[in-house]
Amino acid sequence: SSELLVIGAGLAGTEAAWQIAQAGLAVRLVEMRPVRRSPAHHSSEFGELVCSNSFGALSSDRAAGLLQEELRRLGSMVIRTADAHAVPAGGALAVDRGRYSAALTAALEQHPLVTVERREHTELPGPGEIAVLATGPLTSEPLAEQLREFTGRADCHFFDAASPIVEGESIDLGVAFRASRYDKGDADYINCPMNREQFLAFRQELLSAEQAELKDFEKESAHFFEGCLPIEELARRGEDTMRYGPLKPIGLWDPRWGDVNDRDVRRAKRAYAVVQLRQEDKDGRLWNLVGFQTNLKWGEQKRVLRLIPGLENAEFVRFGVMHRNTFLESPQLLDATLQFRQRPSLLAAGQITGTEGYAAAVAGGWLAGTNAARLALGLEPLSLPKTTMLGALSHFIAEAPSKKFQPMPPNFGLLPELAERVREKRARYGAYRDRSLADLEPFTRPLQLHDDSAAA
Ligand code: FAD
Repeated sequence: SSELLVIGAGLAGTEAAWQIAQAGLAVRLVEMRPVRRSPAHHSSEFGELVCSNSFGALSSDRAAGLLQEELRRLGSMVIRTADAHAVPAGGALAVDRGRYSAALTAALEQHPLVTVERREHTELPGPGEIAVLATGPLTSEPLAEQLREFTGRADCHFFDAASPIVEGESIDLGVAFRASRYDKGDADYINCPMNREQFLAFRQELLSAEQAELKDFEKESAHFFEGCLPIEELARRGEDTMRYGPLKPIGLWDPRWGDVNDRDVRRAKRAYAVVQLRQEDKDGRLWNLVGFQTNLKWGEQKRVLRLIPGLENAEFVRFGVMHRNTFLESPQLLDATLQFRQRPSLLAAGQITGTEGYAAAVAGGWLAGTNAARLALGLEPLSLPKTTMLGALSHFIAEAPSKKFQPMPPNFGLLPELAERVREKRARYGAYRDRSLADLEPFTRPLQLHDDSAAA
């Protein structure tokens, strides 16, 4: 049939189905709730916000706010509905979640081109079918199994044990230094050295910091992860356990300390422990703390990790997490158009692609829905400029240097550097915003679906 398929009416699927219908095409939207419920969802409504009721900062000189603004200009129906049901939230886009998701559900159910089916979809769409997979971090098991088969087991993850990521620009290189252990490789790491007092104080803070509660269904998955312990658990196992693990100081030397071959200098200056950061993106603007997967609460992570020398002013773009999360090894599998390379008629959107956060899920839904429609209309699929937040996110998941791909929220570290350096942070973010909205402009014209020149 000529009908397009969207699986999952979460944030991404709802937006995708709407964009397809707006292009004048018939779409079948399959949602398993309430027939089958995920362990985190509570309602039967579309676009349910499973936890907080906030889409993040509203101001467009913040990363989530910029993404919302881009989506507004691109005609996103989820963001428009969120705007219509916003509640005061001190600078964030927060919504009355009941009214917001009831409005989304009604809009889709009443659209003449949308057919809603309430059932669990257990088969991956075949090669002849244009379809968007938007089943989220808690994709149901039969479909997840099909995905594992389709992508290869190693390219489909079920548990996310991720380290925090900080902006490279916020690391103090007066204290931290670039080097790899025993000078192997190209100084691939940024190293934060600690003396004994600093280390002991840091360990103490890790031990007393407050932890987030794992949900029951997550405790089960966590069993499989003995090989990947949270940093606070390593700290608990003994005073020196971290120093024999991720904080091993051996073979790391800052030339500013003096001559490494002089024994006395070495004895006097060598670090007692070293925290290493590994490059996360191609351009070295994002860095993850190696071995720092953690269950600490986000506020606690910020407080404790800023005790690490060199990270006193670190800007966190993502905090560490350990939770259940079905996501694809997207750099191996997807293009920046959100099409599967091995089956271009199949697109993926939302958290399953390795983006994180509500606004990012809506963004993926917009792009996948738009591109599904373009494919059906015989138009070239779009990929947005990397200077826009939506474009940067979709290019990141398609192109991240993927030794260990980790999900990514919208953040300014994803955007290409500005032509001219702007020192002050807010002004810099404002400049990123101005560039993004200017570069987005050609994609916001009405009827762009029928305008071939807009194809990138
Ligand atoms: P979802 O919104 O989960 O939508 C997927 C949909 O697919 C669901 O409706 C599901 O029922 C359906 N589905 C699954 N399998 C099938 C199937 N086989 N057949 C048919 N339908 C199916 N992000 C934030 O920004 N803020 C937060 O506070 C936050 N809290 C979170 C808390 C938890 C417990 C979890 C798991 C995630 C949280 N996230 C949060 C991340 C959040 O899930 C995503 O940002 C967003 O909901 C993902 O949108 P999505 O559309 O990809 O998936």
